[in-house]
Amino acid sequence: METPILQPELTTKIADLYRRMEKAYDLVARQLDFTCQGCPDNCCDSYFQHHTYVEWAYLWQGIMELTPAQRQALENRAADYAAACEAALARDERPQVMCPLNEEGRCGLYHHRLMICRMHGVPSSLTFPNGQNKRFPGCFRCQELVAGRQAVPAVERAPLFQELAALEQELLVKQQGTLPKVKKTIAEMILLGPPRL
Ligand code: SF4
Ligand code: SF4
Repeated sequence: METPILQPELTTKIADLYRRMEKAYDLVARQLDFTCQGCPDNCCDSYFQHHTYVEWAYLWQGIMELTPAQRQALENRAADYAAACEAALARDERPQVMCPLNEEGRCGLYHHRLMICRMHGVPSSLTFPNGQNKRFPGCFRCQELVAGRQAVPAVERAPLFQELAALEQELLVKQQGTLPKVKKTIAEMILLGPPRL
């Protein structure tokens, strides 16, 4: 068994934060009677970059639980994904390529999926310290569902983001300011291996 990248305490904290993100999402989804069931789309082909070492490390803790064959297959899919994204970006297009972790329509590392994956779908909002509020309308199907409604519930992202930022700080306490900023797709995180901390 490989040594976990995160200290057990930090592993517990990020797993707990992820669970609470899921709860906040599920609450709004229930209020809206919204599910992904029957969706003709699969939004795991949306192009996103991710920004924390702590999520990168926790993703790798999931990857380390895969068998060597599963890991090799994942790395092959990640290499294909990276090449397809590079080609799309060279054409000045936003890439639309299925995430290498998606297997037959489902997330292959569901419990380790990143924050952005957990927020996508239902409406959400982000309140800034100055009181300004940014709304995110949710995916196309959710937008169709709530069209014309007056009061639409939303997941408030700010406290969840703040907690993630605190975990990132806790992880990088000794290297604060010495490591490059993270701006990576999941495929890049897979191909690069676990973050070197
Ligand atoms: S990590 Fe999982 S949920 Fe997120 S885009 Fe990839 S397959 Fe989808
Ligand atoms: S989040 Fe929306 S677009 Fe994505 S699978 Fe669910 S219903 Fe479809």
